[in-house]
Amino acid sequence: WDHPEVSTQVSPDYTIRDIMMSFVILSGLMFCIVSYLLKAYYQEKRSKDELIQKLDFYSTHDPLTGLHNRRYFIDYIKEKILPSPKNFFILMYDVDHFKKLNDTYGHLFGDKVLARIGEMAKAFCLEPGEISVRYGGEEFIQVIVAPDIEHAFARAETFRNSISSISLFEEPSAKVHISGGLIDCSDTKFASHNRMLSSVDALLYLAKTNGRNKIVHQESL
Ligand code: GH3
Ligand code: MG
Ligand code: MG
Repeated sequence: WDHPEVSTQVSPDYTIRDIMMSFVILSGLMFCIVSYLLKAYYQEKRSKDELIQKLDFYSTHDPLTGLHNRRYFIDYIKEKILPSPKNFFILMYDVDHFKKLNDTYGHLFGDKVLARIGEMAKAFCLEPGEISVRYGGEEFIQVIVAPDIEHAFARAETFRNSISSISLFEEPSAKVHISGGLIDCSDTKFASHNRMLSSVDALLYLAKTNGRNKIVHQESL
């Protein structure tokens, strides 16, 4: 303003073109910045959603077998089984001499056996309400839905036999057996989940001390 002589005089046409060009360049720049920020925001949001989904899954599932975990199972007993226990049976089973299997064929092979048991347990859930759980280590739970203990026992025996037929191509000679305890959840003595778990655990212990590779249920005592 103080020295107008130093600036060149430009025509109004040129000024308008100049302003328009500046406007176009600025708009382009703004567009690029906003698109970049939006893309970064959506990428961040997608990876956060995936992480939340993963955390949600692993809060109720076991990573090795993909079966439900112990926490989910305890909630399941409290919310689904205890309010109406009729037709619900709990099979708790444990792999026989699993430590020896690990020692003989290696821990990785042991993991493969557990994963295969997980696949078979999932495939075993046919009735609505049936779930498979990795209770811990090489101990599993199968919730069976059946009209009575005889039917539940027959299904548990079918499952035990199917586990005995597991053969992994890495070690075809490796033999996998399970022992289990089976309880009828509608038994009036099971007023809490702790009672159910201690009873089924005691039956599993009996199966272990009576030769293994078998399932023991209340009525068979
Ligand atoms: P039993 O017939 O009395 O059940 O004998 P066992 O050898 O199966 O039982 P024990 O409790 O002595 O050993 C359990 C073994 O299971 C020991 C532990 O290293 C192994 N184990 C627990 N969790 C895992 C796992 O996630 N992967 C593998 N490979 N091994 C596991
Ligand atoms: Mg075992
Ligand atoms: Mg065990």
